[in-house]
Amino acid sequence: MQQLGRTPEKIPPSAHQISLSAVSKPALKIVRQLNDAGYEAYLVGGCVRDLLLQHIPKDFDVATNAYPEEVKAVFNRARLIGRRFRLAHVRMGRDVVEVATFRAGFTEEQGAENRHVNKDGQILRDNVYGGIEDDAFRRDFTINALYYDPNTQNVVDYVDGTAHLRERRLVTIGDPETRFREDPVRMLRAVRFAVKLGFSLDPEVKRAIRRSADSLNNVPPSRMLDEMLKLLHNGYALDVYRELKSSGLFAHLFPFTEACEFGDSRDLIELALSNTDARIREGKPVIPAFLVACFLWKPLRQETETRIRQGMPPRPAFSTASFDLLTNQSMHVGIPKRIGTVVREIWNLQQRLERRLPRGVKMLLRHQRFRAAYDFLLLRREIGEVDSELAEWWTRIQEVDPARQHEMIKSLAPPSSSGRRRKRRRRK
Ligand code: ATP
Ligand code: MG
Repeated sequence: MQQLGRTPEKIPPSAHQISLSAVSKPALKIVRQLNDAGYEAYLVGGCVRDLLLQHIPKDFDVATNAYPEEVKAVFNRARLIGRRFRLAHVRMGRDVVEVATFRAGFTEEQGAENRHVNKDGQILRDNVYGGIEDDAFRRDFTINALYYDPNTQNVVDYVDGTAHLRERRLVTIGDPETRFREDPVRMLRAVRFAVKLGFSLDPEVKRAIRRSADSLNNVPPSRMLDEMLKLLHNGYALDVYRELKSSGLFAHLFPFTEACEFGDSRDLIELALSNTDARIREGKPVIPAFLVACFLWKPLRQETETRIRQGMPPRPAFSTASFDLLTNQSMHVGIPKRIGTVVREIWNLQQRLERRLPRGVKMLLRHQRFRAAYDFLLLRREIGEVDSELAEWWTRIQEVDPARQHEMIKSLAPPSSSGRRRKRRRRK
């Protein structure tokens, strides 16, 4: 049972798979320096989970009973960051390690007076310090609440996290619905970890997600964007997307996309996500704007058509619809201007790629967003939205030498139309 006041399970090095050599040297050094200064310090969270699963951790986090100011006093290269969640960034060579002070969690006995919680039970600020045990219980999932002590090489487990790791189960610490109301982002984290680790969500967790999904609307859009990027830029976005749809969470991320009729045999979003997954696995760069452009493409087309039906000319219909859609979307997952601008460029370039005006081709090829817009065009070709001939033409023109490019552009202009234009000029 997960219960405060229980003696933790200590798993000795003979009974687990973590080898000290797999732990980052800077993190070990930080733990040692904190110990030397008289503080407790452990590795904690995702890195311990990943080490136990024989995965390579993304980063190493340290938890300590030293207060942030005390951490700063131990390391002259520490920087205190965060308001909602104050912690120290300690620089060691090229690495930055997050050092967080043990925090207390929310329990009925403590009441809400020590922390900032809103009327929905959502935590606004979380800087109530405590001991290691409190720190374990305030974490989200049992597998994320394991501590590793490099001195003894023991794994310290207050919440049955090691058992759940073995059983490949994602279990919340405490009642899932309460924990999701406290911080709705935990629902997105649940999906991310379940997919990434190939774990199953406990039925109780699934039920709680269905009941609490709408509380995602209370999360600041900027935090939603951060979380969305973690969900989708990781190499397993397609599975994450399917899980988000089936759990009802997707509707709170991209409500306008969800509202569109789907059921197409080939789905632009699924294609885009599997391409993104492949790119990430190959170490190629990805930009957030590309996926946003894909997610919102269908609602954009629907909205544009609606405006045209209401009598607006196509161009302003398209440009006002794209502007309004991005503005409305930003109330859910925030799309900052730097991303929104690129999204609109990708969209606008679609029309230009389709029109292939001879005078504009060279300029398009040099356009900063040409590559992203061309990739987008290829996806549209795959769902049958544009002709293969058009897509292949754009592929070919990038591959050939300038002389051949010139020929390709020249052969675009239909003689009849240019003839008409010349005639008109002569009449003048
Ligand atoms: P990743 O591999 O994605 O980095 P992680 O588990 O390390 O996974 P982080 O976001 O780096 O995830 O968080 C570090 C630790 O902090 C988590 O393992 C968890 O214990 C705790 N944590 C993070 N976010 C929350 C949250 N919203 N609520 C409770 N605990 C959290
Ligand atoms: Mg982490």
